[in-house]
Amino acid sequence: MKLFIMTDIEGISGLDRIEMLGADPEGYERARKYLMADINAAVSGAFDGGADEVCILDGHGTGLNFIKEELDPRVHQLTVEEYFKTAPESWDIDAFISIGAHAMAGTEKAFLDHTQSSVAWFDYKINGKSYGEIGQQAVFFGLSDIPLIMVSGDEAACHEAKTFVSGVVTASVKKACGRNHAECIPLEEAHALIYNAVKKAVLGWRDVKPVKVFPPYELEVVFTRNDYCDSAIGRDPSLEREGRRVVRRLDKITCSLDMEWF
Ligand SMILES: [Zn+2]
Repeated sequence: MKLFIMTDIEGISGLDRIEMLGADPEGYERARKYLMADINAAVSGAFDGGADEVCILDGHGTGLNFIKEELDPRVHQLTVEEYFKTAPESWDIDAFISIGAHAMAGTEKAFLDHTQSSVAWFDYKINGKSYGEIGQQAVFFGLSDIPLIMVSGDEAACHEAKTFVSGVVTASVKKACGRNHAECIPLEEAHALIYNAVKKAVLGWRDVKPVKVFPPYELEVVFTRNDYCDSAIGRDPSLEREGRRVVRRLDKITCSLDMEWF
């Protein structure tokens, strides 16, 4: 069984305030350690649940968050380029999980809710339905029948995952108190939750169905300001625009960049 681990940082255990993502450099260094601990708990759960191969992406920002020497050596790390440019049919994996996830833009009682850009993106839709990053990834891998089997993050992210994927196993490691603060469960407890959830998910991966969305695809971003729309059209003149809504129409999604790059 081959497993892919998508990672983000907002939803990891121990990270309880927005400053830890930049404004407080010492806090961010601690967050990187917390990230590696959550990941390694997930990796142990995956192998103990029967995974034969595990690959992973450092998925937050530009992908420079991992402390490489702390990553479980059994795991193969993909580059950001490999992740974004690999065609759906070329992914040689059976299932994927998402560690450190956050809820979509506009979710109430969610820690650091956003969809791609917390500044520029107000909403994102696929064929008329709103998706956050969890749902987008489930749709992308669903193109080649790969299911999302487990998610860790704050309570809102775990709830969101369940609305997109029936049967997904979740590990909720914290609860938002307003958008920018969270109350975390103790680290050891969080790591045990993640380990057990991944192990359970991998053991039962065949029971979870992939998320299916069918062509033609209408991918839409509602930006917060007109200058962001102008920039998007500048990068891709094939986009259609209606006010702050920018639409990409595709008959085929060739890689995840098609879905996420506007
Ligand atoms: Zn992130």
